[in-house]
Amino acid sequence: MGMPVTVNFELREELLKLVPTLSLCYQCGTCSTYCPITDESYNIRLIVKKAQLGVVDPKDFKVIWDCVTCGTCQALCPNNVEIVNLVEVIRTMAMKSKVFPTKINEILWKIYENQNPWGGYTVTDKRRFLAQFSGLINNENPDVVIYPCCLSVGDPRLQRHIKALIRVLTKAGLKVGMYTGLSCCGDIILHTGNKAFYEEYTAKLRDSIMSSVKAPIIVTLSPHCEYALKKYLKGVRVVHYVELLDELIRSGKLKIDKKVDITVTYHDPCYLSKHQRIIEEPRRVITSIPGVRLVEMAHSREKSLCCGAGGGGGIALETRVSTELSKRRLKEAVDTGASVVLTACTYCFRMLEDANKVMRTSLKVMDLVEFLDSVMGD
Ligand code: SF4
Ligand code: SF4
Repeated sequence: MGMPVTVNFELREELLKLVPTLSLCYQCGTCSTYCPITDESYNIRLIVKKAQLGVVDPKDFKVIWDCVTCGTCQALCPNNVEIVNLVEVIRTMAMKSKVFPTKINEILWKIYENQNPWGGYTVTDKRRFLAQFSGLINNENPDVVIYPCCLSVGDPRLQRHIKALIRVLTKAGLKVGMYTGLSCCGDIILHTGNKAFYEEYTAKLRDSIMSSVKAPIIVTLSPHCEYALKKYLKGVRVVHYVELLDELIRSGKLKIDKKVDITVTYHDPCYLSKHQRIIEEPRRVITSIPGVRLVEMAHSREKSLCCGAGGGGGIALETRVSTELSKRRLKEAVDTGASVVLTACTYCFRMLEDANKVMRTSLKVMDLVEFLDSVMGD
């Protein structure tokens, strides 16, 4: 830091109350070593150190928006310091001081007006988009209800993944329903630091889901939706589809009879691997497909590299690092020699496929459920 630092005891107490694990940091530097955006302007170890002393200055308010909330730092921190929570607390402070990317206002307005951060479609449009699946779903008496990510709803490439999930779950003998109410799970609001709006929006979403979903299980296509819904839904089980498919395959309810001959690699979505430690489930699903060889990238599991979307901040705010990160990740996938890179996240799919359009590699980017559905056939 160079300059002498004055401890702000009041702020220190406040930060320790909001992030109690902050006191456990002993400055080992693991976080900044593995943080994919560490450079001369961004050093998460230093931000944690200063926060311990109650020092958060205007420079931190500016750079804190570069963090993609990938969670690598906290997944690898030997003392389990809740670093992403700290980032979100500093973002809330930055918002109060009016230091934030102007794009955030745009995103929050879109959620306020249309219940999704991407704009372009309303809840009525959402029902119209999802009507294409009405012949495949059973909303009367479902065993499981799909919560479609707001990004999937408006993107035909991602709508294919919804269809694939319905088809695969139906083959496992489940009656599949669909939630067609409000769109965004609220994750982006949480990570961009607007706590008050987050509480207001998610209360509305919780009431809408709990009054319309009549199944014991809600299954998501996006790890972000799973992570968010788990925080505020009670009395219903929320799972990501990789967990459900893994259970169905292991219990023998989902049988994969077809055989293929292909080498694939798997990109761990941050909100599965690092934020929720859902790491082996997708790998078990992949390796249970006869004839599939899984090869790992140089960085995988908790150490996997972020696709650049992060907790929504990267994809929605288009931070200075997000495009660079997606290209770096795609390059690692190419280096494995696989012909397909699989993932299990709407954001990751979009980031990697967009990078692939620019880099024109020989790899095909696919969502795991779409890959499985294509192997299983009709
Ligand atoms: S990894 Fe954890 S203990 Fe180590 S410097 Fe970072 S926050 Fe502190
Ligand atoms: S969440 Fe990711 S980008 Fe943010 S500080 Fe941690 S490792 Fe770096």
